[in-house]
Amino acid sequence: KGPDPDLVSIVERMTTVKHKILVLSGKGGVGKSTFSAQLSFALAAMDFQVGLLDIDICGPSIPKMLGLEGQEIHQSNLGWSPVYVESNLGVMSIGFMLPNPDDAVIWRGPRKNGIIKQFLKDVYWGELDFLIVDAPPGTSDEHISIVQFLQATGIDGAVIVTTPQQVSLIDVRKEVSFCKKVGLQVLGVVENMSGLSQPLSELRFLDGEQKDVTELVIASMREKVPEMLNLVAFSEVFDSSGGGGAKMCMDMGVPFLGKVPLDPRLCKAAEEGRSCFDDSKCRVSATALKAIMEKI
Ligand code: ADP
Repeated sequence: KGPDPDLVSIVERMTTVKHKILVLSGKGGVGKSTFSAQLSFALAAMDFQVGLLDIDICGPSIPKMLGLEGQEIHQSNLGWSPVYVESNLGVMSIGFMLPNPDDAVIWRGPRKNGIIKQFLKDVYWGELDFLIVDAPPGTSDEHISIVQFLQATGIDGAVIVTTPQQVSLIDVRKEVSFCKKVGLQVLGVVENMSGLSQPLSELRFLDGEQKDVTELVIASMREKVPEMLNLVAFSEVFDSSGGGGAKMCMDMGVPFLGKVPLDPRLCKAAEEGRSCFDDSKCRVSATALKAIMEKI
């Protein structure tokens, strides 16, 4: 039996892509897509040629997050064309294939594998410095095939996104074991939603007298020391007494890439289909970016 022709096509397609990074998480909703998008923007801002590929079949959220809902896949004789959100950042999402964003995707394993294969094989990226792949959450059969396809093309490794809660960290341990089992390098773990950061101007007490007091304080600040309002307050949200992601990484012998706080401005930007709340404020910690760059 000769080599799998699809695999041959994938390898051929990926010869123009220098680095491939898979973004994984144990659970949904921890910020995997947010991190994938932010990492892509951060790399594009460094003048790299970047592709962002969303193959999260269960919940492709990249189109909504980047204001690309309703985009359809265009084809040229070279293959499927990504949608360019910057001149050096192309995006392709399984979400572009769903006629209605409310459609549930209930595909069985082989169909899922087929579509993932097709995305790896048929998208025409051209020359890329980085391909960031936003994978579905968990460790299922799809993950094994994604890793196999990408390994055949030479993948740099995986970044795992978690929140600081125990429930999420337990799943990360499974992700790390999965990577070890399939021989995929873990570039590191990012702890997202780690605490809350919020500008003082946005702080509110909940109700009653206190509410009036906050409004008074904010009004007087606005008048007397307006720059104070730009200060950003930080508070812990989840109980991190167990040591959070950093301790888990130590235990598992994988790099800890840093923390990204919950930031309502980032959430609002995503809801409105903007990538960042302010061009200079992509939420990938500089430490994480540096650590990733050093590893590849
Ligand atoms: P996943 O890809 O893991 O399912 P998403 O990236 O879609 O998770 O994030 C889930 C929700 O949380 C989205 O609404 C997103 O905007 C929000 N979110 C993720 N990270 C942050 C953050 N650091 N600050 C604020 N909101 C965030």
